[in-house]
Amino acid sequence: ASKAKDIKKKNNIYIYEPALSAEIKSRRQLEHDLTFAYQKGQIKLYFQAQIGSGNQLHGAETLVRWEHPELGFIPPNKFIEIAEESQQILKLGAWIMYHAFIQAKAWTRIKPDFNLSINISPIQFHEADFIQNVISIMIETKVDPKNITLELTEGILISDTENAVEKIARIVELGFKVSIDDFGTGYSSLSYFQRLPIHELKIDKSFISRVPNSKEDVAIVESIVHLAKTKDLRIVAEGVETKEQLDFIQQQSANILIQGYYFSQPCPAKKFEKQFLEQ
Ligand code: C2E
Ligand code: CA
Ligand code: CA
Ligand code: CA
Repeated sequence: ASKAKDIKKKNNIYIYEPALSAEIKSRRQLEHDLTFAYQKGQIKLYFQAQIGSGNQLHGAETLVRWEHPELGFIPPNKFIEIAEESQQILKLGAWIMYHAFIQAKAWTRIKPDFNLSINISPIQFHEADFIQNVISIMIETKVDPKNITLELTEGILISDTENAVEKIARIVELGFKVSIDDFGTGYSSLSYFQRLPIHELKIDKSFISRVPNSKEDVAIVESIVHLAKTKDLRIVAEGVETKEQLDFIQQQSANILIQGYYFSQPCPAKKFEKQFLEQ
């Protein structure tokens, strides 16, 4: 979106304005800096709790952070896209997966049924070696895949659907759980959805933020919950900030998992452990 303001549409031809070159430069800079960011310890994994019924801890979602030495915290919404466009997401994604699996392994020693969710970029998912890479990291870290949920988005089904469905089936065969993230926001192909061997749907925070006041969003949340129930899927409500939202969600179904600022912000591993895993 920030790109758009620098581009003026003239006679249907997009003309690059000088301001854009500054942005390209900073993107190039970020792209360059990102190459070394994880070796330099600038990439950090944060964890946000997922809370089940009776306020019990179910697990956490892994959310990546980049602490740039000059620019400070760069939000994932900004640098994941850069990493995707430059294909760096393949290495970065593998790095994230490795460290998340190590963390999951440690936390399942404290809580054996702990679940750790990890975001998978569509670029990473579509890579030819994706399954092989997941297997290698699983073997290396000795993580039990039953404690891991891989979060995919609906977008992966747009192209090469058959192949995507097959890959998901492979992941599930290995023992991992699969979640569809941001459910309802993208291209949703309900016919394929019926065939997917998935375990969880995540209701996007854009819907949660407007319940219970927006009738439209109430209807969307209700239909996602209904759909999940017919397939016996776990549901996570993302972005729950208020008691009002919490009450609305819990009225929908007793066992929806809650993830949001109401319970906790994403935080570093040590803080998460102190808050949720120590007696
Ligand atoms: P997402 O997967 O939909 O993650 C949920 C986002 O909602 C996170 O933003 C989280 O911090 C935020 N959130 C959670 N609860 C609340 C709440 O109550 N209120 C508000 N306002 N926000 C809440 P974050 O950490 O900035 O991540 C943004 C996106 O970046 C993620 O959206 C995901 O698409 C991507 N991302 C983050 N970590 C990774 C990663 O390790 N790999 C990949 N491929 N993408 C990642
Ligand atoms: Ca996610
Ligand atoms: Ca999400
Ligand atoms: Ca989201």
